[in-house]
Formats: sequence, C-alpha cells, structure tokens
Amino acid sequence: MKRKEWLDRLLSILYPPRCVCCGEVLPAGETLCEACEKRIVRIEAPVCLLCGYSLQDCGRKHPKTAYQEITAPFYYEEAIREGIHRFKFRDRPQSAIFFAREMAKSVRENMPGISFDLIVCVPMLPAKEKERGYNQSALLARELSALLGVPADCHALCKSIDTPAQHELKGAERKGNVFGVFEVPCPEAVEGKTVLLCDDVKTTGATLDECAKMLKFAGAKDVYCACIAVTRKQDKAKQEPPSL
Ligand SMILES: [Zn+2]
Ligand SMILES: [Zn+2]
Repeated sequence: MKRKEWLDRLLSILYPPRCVCCGEVLPAGETLCEACEKRIVRIEAPVCLLCGYSLQDCGRKHPKTAYQEITAPFYYEEAIREGIHRFKFRDRPQSAIFFAREMAKSVRENMPGISFDLIVCVPMLPAKEKERGYNQSALLARELSALLGVPADCHALCKSIDTPAQHELKGAERKGNVFGVFEVPCPEAVEGKTVLLCDDVKTTGATLDECAKMLKFAGAKDVYCACIAVTRKQDKAKQEPPSL
C-alpha cells in the first residue's frame, strides 16, 4: 500500500465521514444518512425568487428589498435545521462543502444568465468569529467561489456593532436590530459589481436586506442572495434560527 493510501485510510479511521445533518458515521464518500435524506425538505421548482419559496408556497406579497432575488435549496426544517445547527455550533466547518454544493446548484438553476462579479458573505463580529473559530457564511462564500468560478471577498462587508441574535427578536424588531450595523469598508471593491451575497438561513430577510442596502449604497450594481435554507412563514414560531 502506498503512503498516500495509508494516510487516507488512517484519516478515515480517525475522522470518519459523518452525516452532515445528524452526525452519524457513514461509509466513505457519503454525506447524508438515509434517514436524514428522507427528512430533508427541498424547495421544489418552480420557485419564487422574491422570497425563495416554491411557487406553491409563496404568499405573493413581498416587501421591497435592496436585493434583486434570493435562492436556496432547502426549507429550514427537519434534518436541514439540525445540519445547520451542527454546522454553526458544533464545530463542523466541513459541512460547508455539502451546503455550498447544493447552494451552487440552486444558483445555477434559478439564476441562469446572471454573471456575478463577486461573492460576499454576511459578516460576523470579529470577537464572535474568534470564539466560534470560523464564520459559517465566509466558509460558504469560499466554497461557492470555487464552485461557481467567481472571486469571493469575505471582507467586503464588516459588522461593527454587536447586536442580540436575530432569533431572540420578533419580526419587526429584527429590522431595527440590524439597522446600521454593517459597513462596506472599501466601496471600490464592490463598485459597479453584480454581487452574490450568501448566508446560512433567511428568516425575515432583514439581515440580507440590510447588507444588500449597504452594498448598493457603496456602489454595487445589483445584489442577489443565496442561502442554505429559508424559513417558511407558517413554521416561523417553531423554526427560528439559532443565531443571526
Ligand atoms: Zn443523518
Ligand atoms: Zn414569493
């Protein structure tokens, strides 16, 4: 056996692949266990790009947003909800690979013909990022960058003020909570560009809207959004995201 094969085998024993959603150990090369695969709620085409829902779930009344369109592969429910929680709070940065692959697929399918110049992410306060060890949205941006062949700039937006986590607040409070907390430190980095803004979960969309507003204010031409999952309205009470 070659040295490389040995090393791969050793690594797979020490760090076996685990289900992205429930954490169960899996055979090599797999990312989801059978049970979780069945509990994933995908957003089926055709989709409404104003809210990200399947057209059949869309309420058709959308507040005006600073971003043009939003797409996501999943609803924030069942196995995906657990997977995102694991990704954010259980030190599973490698989950970004699976989630970004699904996000890239939904961007390609739902936003064909849009030529993105830049991928940016929803920022975290530096102290919070240090505590967690990574910003999950930045990991998604980097993976998306490789998959879509578009450069990523994870410092295009920054967060300068600490705020309570969005899930601790009610809908109307969420907008106020993020108002003015994001900045574009270097406007020339986004000026005239078509930007793909990514984050893990869209609940009310207040965070994405505020980030898009700042990007547009700094001179970005258009802003589109991609998330892992969106929260369906009827489930909001029990489907709050665990953090901003
Ligand atoms: Zn599983
Ligand atoms: Zn809609």
